Amino acid sequence: MKETIRCNDEIILSCGTIGSPAVLFRSGITTKDNPAIGKNLTDHLILSLEFELNSNILSHHQILEDPDLAQAALNTYRLGKNGDLVKFGGSSGVIFPRLEKIYKSKEFNEIKDTETKEFLMNPGRPSTEIWFMVDLSSNKLTLQSGAVYSPPPRPKEKSYITFEGLMQNCLSRGTITADEEGNVLVDPNFLSHPFDMRVAIETIRAIIRISLSSKWKGDIKAMLWGPEIQWSPDMDIEGIPDEVLAAFVRKVINHGYHQMSTLAMGKDGEGAVDKDFRLRGFQGLRVVDLSVCPILTNNHTQVNAYVIGEVAARKIVKENGGAVMNGTKN
Ligand SMILES: Cc1cc2nc3c(=O)[nH]c(=O)nc-3n(C[C@H](O)[C@H](O)[C@H](O)COP(=O)(O)OP(=O)(O)OC[C@H]3O[C@@H](n4cnc5c(N)ncnc54)[C@H](O)[C@@H]3O)c2cc1C
Repeated sequence: MKETIRCNDEIILSCGTIGSPAVLFRSGITTKDNPAIGKNLTDHLILSLEFELNSNILSHHQILEDPDLAQAALNTYRLGKNGDLVKFGGSSGVIFPRLEKIYKSKEFNEIKDTETKEFLMNPGRPSTEIWFMVDLSSNKLTLQSGAVYSPPPRPKEKSYITFEGLMQNCLSRGTITADEEGNVLVDPNFLSHPFDMRVAIETIRAIIRISLSSKWKGDIKAMLWGPEIQWSPDMDIEGIPDEVLAAFVRKVINHGYHQMSTLAMGKDGEGAVDKDFRLRGFQGLRVVDLSVCPILTNNHTQVNAYVIGEVAARKIVKENGGAVMNGTKN
């Protein structure tokens, strides 16, 4: 069904990384009008390793499936709005490590583009992100999310810890396109750049290293979900063949819910939108959402949406003769 919507001044498109290019395509705007539309899709790829824990460390699934534990958690919540029900198991220990081995790898050395290499070499730039549940004051493993990505069954007498890895600085680029009927096709093109596989492999090694930390000796009992290896305290982590880890990566790698850059902002006539969020080649049409992010940033991306919204709002207010509040610069 076709619908015509008119506006007097300008349209601000804000349907997200997938939605905004989709709306453009369905409105008859194509890559012939602006070649950058739908290119450059990027994300923090995700994978997880999961382990069985000592059963005296609870996981959420055990609380939710045991009426007595669930009632006790509910009572605590009702009394003080705290306790197990307000904890999101799996997110209290978050690290963004820089894995130096990556920068000595063949995959890194073979990157030809010096600008990309310099970007990756920035000493403040992390290589990956790993999150898991740990009490930061005592360094003890506490209430866990339970198993998240591994296939069931998950017996309730067992407790599980999930380590999630979110690859930073992915260099693979996917696309969003549309066919003649207006069906939108998303091709994430995961792992098309060999560097991303290197980051994933070294992330798995880092997770295994953490799982064997002497701090938690005896707490983690067995690997439930991970590469085809014999996980044990005396294992040679560096000696695990890359191919074994790569096979697991290929099996499980997924998008990390942080997609961006399908209408990326560029300077000097490049990019889908200009620095004022205007879609190049069109008048009266701006895009204000994560699709305009020019690079894959090293963070969880809700904040990008806030920053993009704020910057765009200030620009538009100013252009229209309004005053920007708080004295903050544009
Ligand atoms: C499951 C999940 C968990 C996440 N967790 C976190 C987190 O913990 N922390 C964090 O920082 N980030 C998180 N993110 C990422 C963060 O939510 C996104 O990066 C951010 O919301 C993107 O903002 P956006 O405005 O670009 O797009 P969106 O938030 O997706 O907004 C786009 C809006 O457009 C609407 N829309 C799309 N198409 C149309 C259409 N044709 N017509 C009308 N409306 C349309 C959609 O319904 C939506 O409301 C998570 C994302 C997901 C999916």
